[in-house]
Amino acid sequence: KQLSSSQVRQLFLDFFETKGHKIEPSASLIPIDDPTLLWINSGVATLKKYFDGSVVPENPRITNAQKSIRTNDIENVGKTARHHTMFEMLGNFSVGDYFKKDAIHWAWELLTSDEWYGLDKDKLYVTIHPDDEEAFRIWHEEVGLPKESIIKLEENFWDIGAGPCGPNSEIFFDRGQEYNDVAEDDPENFPGGENERYLEIWNLVFSEFNHTENNEYLPLPHKNIDTGMGLERMVSIFQDAPTNFETDLFIPIIEATQKMSDGKEYGKDSTTDTSFKVIADHIRAVSFAIGDGALPSNEGRGYVLRRLIRRAVMHGKKLGIDKAFLVDLVPVVGQIMESYYPEIVEKQDFIQKVIKTEEERFHETINDGLSIISELIKDMKAANQTVLSGKDIFKLYDTYGFPVELTEEMAQDEGLSVDHEGFEVEMTAQRDRARAARSKEESMSVQSSLLTDIKVVSEFVGYTEDTVDAKLM
Ligand code: ATP
Ligand code: MG
Ligand code: MG
Ligand code: MG
Repeated sequence: KQLSSSQVRQLFLDFFETKGHKIEPSASLIPIDDPTLLWINSGVATLKKYFDGSVVPENPRITNAQKSIRTNDIENVGKTARHHTMFEMLGNFSVGDYFKKDAIHWAWELLTSDEWYGLDKDKLYVTIHPDDEEAFRIWHEEVGLPKESIIKLEENFWDIGAGPCGPNSEIFFDRGQEYNDVAEDDPENFPGGENERYLEIWNLVFSEFNHTENNEYLPLPHKNIDTGMGLERMVSIFQDAPTNFETDLFIPIIEATQKMSDGKEYGKDSTTDTSFKVIADHIRAVSFAIGDGALPSNEGRGYVLRRLIRRAVMHGKKLGIDKAFLVDLVPVVGQIMESYYPEIVEKQDFIQKVIKTEEERFHETINDGLSIISELIKDMKAANQTVLSGKDIFKLYDTYGFPVELTEEMAQDEGLSVDHEGFEVEMTAQRDRARAARSKEESMSVQSSLLTDIKVVSEFVGYTEDTVDAKLM
């Protein structure tokens, strides 16, 4: 089947609507009342209130397409076929309603029925927890999946250390041997292993225990279902794309970037392609995050944004782009996403203003920073040194605005290692200096106000005792 990204998203929501689910719109990327998360990183993250019982949902069956950001995948972007910083997670949820049997049967129906996704059954594999006999029975006896297609993995247990948890079952699509990047006899060459052949598309979590503070696993009074399917990965299947990027979600961004480059073309060289992919990925994340109210800064969410923008600018340089350009990609992102996420088009002017300012600021120092770093690398290589010092990383950060992760990535690309601890020492020293300067400033301002007061008083002292008294009263 050939499906557009909008169709893939809509089919998922429609399917679960026919199964009695209420469609919830995507929530903001910025968590509300949840100090444990920097960004919404999955569909379930916004529904916690239903699962912990603090809010009772109108309908215990919910489905959504949720924008999500995972910073732990930043370095995978553009290297693997399947990772993004911002992606959409499609999910179906049962808050104490249906459980494992329905969740598995419905997943299979959506994936394989000709009316819905119509995927080839022979290309699907699942992983389960070794102790989950029920899941094995359902997949094997009821669904009819051959034993060889059901892989038992100890790690298939969803547990964040506290609260609801349970075994999970993940679904993989075999893209074919031509995509395999590991050898036939490599231990990672199986569905569930770290390879590019078997694509993880969907995670079904059967939440049935409560992980207590005493480290006990007690049965939950109401069992829950929580699932997450990666939209971009599904789209890559339906558009026969070698990676998530050759799909209608990214191609227009890549084409627009190509036009701004110094004649670089996508699909000719893998290093160049990585730059195109990183830019296409990061501009989406940045546009959505700013649209949801985040702003670039030096800490927390704002620092993630700054890092994404600067990383994208750096990859732009590799494509020969020497001026602010991310700003011009915002309308492209807006158009691609408009049908389900009108917010980018609606807030386009603001998003562009923020990105342009940030890009231009970085452009003021990036060339100097880049020549410093290439000098450093040259000197180090000449001197047979292999570790970039914390002082140098700090200087690039402090003077040239190079996020530490970026400098480290560049050093590592050159085969060097980095003294990250040394950098932290420099950072701490700078914070201490800033604090000292601040407290000095504070004591200065207290002092100067004392001086002004004294001056006022002494002025009057110069007059007669009476005036002074009169003034003081
Ligand atoms: P992977 O092993 O490929 O990194 P995961 O096991 O970390 O994925 P889950 O936490 O199970 O992912 O998330 C549920 C689904 O969301 C995945 O099966 C996948 O389809 C999708 N997904 C997860 N992380 C990403 C990402 N960084 N970019 C795009 N899709 C993702
Ligand atoms: Mg992952
Ligand atoms: Mg995984
Ligand atoms: Mg997973």
